Amino acid sequence: MARVFNFGAGPAVLPEEVLHQAAAEMLDWHGSGMSVMEMSHRGDEFIAIAAEAEADLRELLAIPAHYKVLFLQGGATLQFAMVPMNLLDGKKCADYVNTGEWSKRAIKEAKAFCEVNVAASSEEAGFTYVPEQATWRLSGDAAYVHICSNETIGGVEFHWVPDTGEVPLVADMSSHILSRPIDVSRYGLIYAGAQKNIGPAGLAIVVVREDLLGRAPKGTASMLDYKVHADAQSMSNTPPTYAVYVAGLVLKWLKRQGGLAAMERKNVAKAGLLYEYLGDSTLFRSPVREADRSRMNVPFTLRDPSLDAPFLAGAEERGMVQLKGHRSVGGMRASIYNAMPIEGVQRLVEYMREFEARHG
Ligand SMILES: *Cc1c(COP(=O)(O)O)cnc(C)c1O
Repeated sequence: MARVFNFGAGPAVLPEEVLHQAAAEMLDWHGSGMSVMEMSHRGDEFIAIAAEAEADLRELLAIPAHYKVLFLQGGATLQFAMVPMNLLDGKKCADYVNTGEWSKRAIKEAKAFCEVNVAASSEEAGFTYVPEQATWRLSGDAAYVHICSNETIGGVEFHWVPDTGEVPLVADMSSHILSRPIDVSRYGLIYAGAQKNIGPAGLAIVVVREDLLGRAPKGTASMLDYKVHADAQSMSNTPPTYAVYVAGLVLKWLKRQGGLAAMERKNVAKAGLLYEYLGDSTLFRSPVREADRSRMNVPFTLRDPSLDAPFLAGAEERGMVQLKGHRSVGGMRASIYNAMPIEGVQRLVEYMREFEARHG
């Protein structure tokens, strides 16, 4: 069976090499006589798998020693709650920047725990840009400042890091983590669900500065306390073992690709192909301000929405799937994560050109 080019936003495409390796090791991992799925999470074999995944993540992101890496469950959505639960530290307020649907979800969840000061928002413009920091109104007594550094639905990406001074910066990086090098030391906490750019669903990764641990109020359930997970090397209960293993294979693949600087070059090239065509086209357009366009999620609309269905049908015939945009934006969305080869983007642009020649 031929594999398709999968432009889905998540769960998303994985590197084919990784899938082959997981398949080859399915029944017998490294002579253990069992699948990783069947291993004890307390056994030497799985402990080595998890430790190597953490070491590779640390190497790829150049994570400083005073940050902990946690492998958690509950997706990025649980982090919308765990962040305020763990970081408020007696304060009453947190600052949030509202750049799209995922920021909105984070804000809504945080309101159960604290006052949320929306320091800046692009909602009035349909979430098509990132507000410049000069326009932000930070509250001064906030426990932290939260951003979603890549809005998966709107296709808006921070290409800069806000300066929040002493106040910890928290970022939901679910849909662009590992797509480019980042300076972890600029953040208090970074979190990401795995199913976009790291591995299978079921795993969420948190990178947190050590001094922010141990601030959860008394009475916090242990599964919701970062310190409990940090002290137990993310094994306070059974971790999502197979998801950790596959994420580890993806991290090794990223190292073989040359690391995150090399991935960034590839991602710039891939996104560039698509945006360049969108800029030239009179049939298709990108709704996002040029400076803030995401390299990972590229929404685009057709001049005439009645062409959406024939466009999608033709894409599917050509082996390109999951291009339908989110209902809040309409049109199309091409998610072109690390694992999407440039050939997929080339085929998409070729098809768009052909479609425009026919319908433009
Ligand atoms: C997908 C996504 C989420 C939600 O992730 P879950 O794992 O489904 O909880 C949150 N934030 C961003 C930016 C996302 O792309």
